[in-house]
Amino acid sequence: MKRRCFVFALCLMILALCGARTAAGSNMGGDVLPQNEGPHAGMAADGRVWYVPMHRREIALTFDDGPYPFYTPLLLHQLAMEEETPATFFLVGRTVQEYPQLVERILAAGNEIGNHTYNHYALTGLRDEEVQDQIMDCGTLLTQYTGAQPTLFRPPHGRYDARVIEIARELGYRTILWNDAPDDAPKDNSELPVSLIVQRVLEQAKPGGIILLHSGQYSTIEAIPQIVDTLRAQGYRFVTVSQLLADQEQS
Ligand SMILES: [Zn+2]
Repeated sequence: MKRRCFVFALCLMILALCGARTAAGSNMGGDVLPQNEGPHAGMAADGRVWYVPMHRREIALTFDDGPYPFYTPLLLHQLAMEEETPATFFLVGRTVQEYPQLVERILAAGNEIGNHTYNHYALTGLRDEEVQDQIMDCGTLLTQYTGAQPTLFRPPHGRYDARVIEIARELGYRTILWNDAPDDAPKDNSELPVSLIVQRVLEQAKPGGIILLHSGQYSTIEAIPQIVDTLRAQGYRFVTVSQLLADQEQS
């Protein structure tokens, strides 16, 4: 009986550890980093960024997935409501190919575009060449439509391992994760209450922070004005992820 309890406790411990890892936006097994690297430090030498350590009140909104013909124009409208609020859009190659005019609109509003792979598959289940193709195929399209080679990459479903990070790095990308995520895209496709999204984003906001949101969620789009207004009132300035990274040295 005692032994069974021990095994049960051990299982609970392992589950808790796995949970902590996933919550930090990482599925890396055996992710051993020096003490000054990792989610708590904001960055890692392998190119991963969770937030950019700084004192200045700069913060980056990031939107994953799309572009979508219905949601993306609405989202752009919300971001431009009072004054233009720049954000970083991690786009999926397949939909970029389908709606290139939306890519133009995203750029025209002063936003930045990053690579979210061609098909949005979980990369941890793919062979090296397939991971490479997923990132490169999206990169080629983005270069074609934006006129510049993208340098920011975000793994679909937040799933990656050391191999994925290394392949992205070899292709010229930094892997952009996040420190602030309201979990606005539940797996059962439901929508979170707007107030809960706002509350969660604000609770986790900090200087140099990277906020993960999803562009295909109506409640997220509705939450934008409140998030933007409140953070501005707290003295935050919205910047793209590249701007945040560029401002790191000067802080
Ligand atoms: Zn995604």
